[in-house]
Amino acid sequence: MTVAIKRQLAVAIDLNKCLGCQTCTLACKKLWTKDKGQETMYWANVETRPGVGYPRSWFDMGVKVPNRDELGEPWTYDLKKRLYDGVQGPTSPKPRSDWGVNWDEDQGDGEFPNASYFYLPRTCNHCDKPACLEACPQKAIYKREEDGLVIIDQSKCTGSRRCIGTCPYKKVYFNPVIEKAEKCIGCFPRTEKGVPYACAATCPGRVQRVGNILDPNGAVHKLVKKWKVALPLMPDSGTEPNVFYVPPLSPPREDEQGRPLAESKIPIEYLEMLFGDGVKKALDTLATERDKKRQGEDSELMDLLIAPTQADLFDLGSPAL
Ligand code: SF4
Repeated sequence: MTVAIKRQLAVAIDLNKCLGCQTCTLACKKLWTKDKGQETMYWANVETRPGVGYPRSWFDMGVKVPNRDELGEPWTYDLKKRLYDGVQGPTSPKPRSDWGVNWDEDQGDGEFPNASYFYLPRTCNHCDKPACLEACPQKAIYKREEDGLVIIDQSKCTGSRRCIGTCPYKKVYFNPVIEKAEKCIGCFPRTEKGVPYACAATCPGRVQRVGNILDPNGAVHKLVKKWKVALPLMPDSGTEPNVFYVPPLSPPREDEQGRPLAESKIPIEYLEMLFGDGVKKALDTLATERDKKRQGEDSELMDLLIAPTQADLFDLGSPAL
């Protein structure tokens, strides 16, 4: 079912600028998912790619509710034990964990000198055709006309978990304490006051442009529709997501003598697996416009991506559009 909406909040995330610092993860965790039953909930997370991500192997999971092993066990480090007592691994009271959020962080893929990785921030995509909404037997999930956010009505949710299995991004979580599904709410109590998403607003790398993708003069629209450098994750999911990614440029692979080869360190095929076949053209456009800017020429694209001030990152528009 396609919902007619007046304004669609969307995000363009520049992966060339993501530091993997997890500030966005923590902002969301502390703001929205710190109550009981939310221990394995990461409405926003940043995973290292190549990698298996969170929940574990979500990309290849298909229609399935992640189990406890795939969500992992909450765990903590006791730094004193780690640093001075030689204790390896988690030091939480229940060190059963062999998996958890960010367990494989910074591992990446490949061998020196051609090892590589990049960071992939993830959240609900507030899709145009939300699989979660279609799957809910209680019709507890709705897409808001005024901003396109996809919200679970907690008063109607009966915990069937169909939305969790159906979301191709595995961005709905089950809360076993309240026995309901929960997911990113697009920070609507903030955006209704004109305040951007907490994940985007706290990002020190300033990687997220947030705006109304239906506004042809808006930055997100231009990055996605005009310049075509911001691409959806899993474009074949059928859900028409509203989070877009500017793919990472990477240095060339090296031969044994350290001489540059034709291919880039992050394999194009891997990026295409994530973001579809627009990757090559997007990377070519980014490299061309970057070089123009370096030579002192104007580049609307680079100016959009640089966003000189914090205010430039966000243009939420008006619900009355
Ligand atoms: Fe629903 Fe998943 Fe799309 Fe979010 S990403 S709107 S949870 S289908």
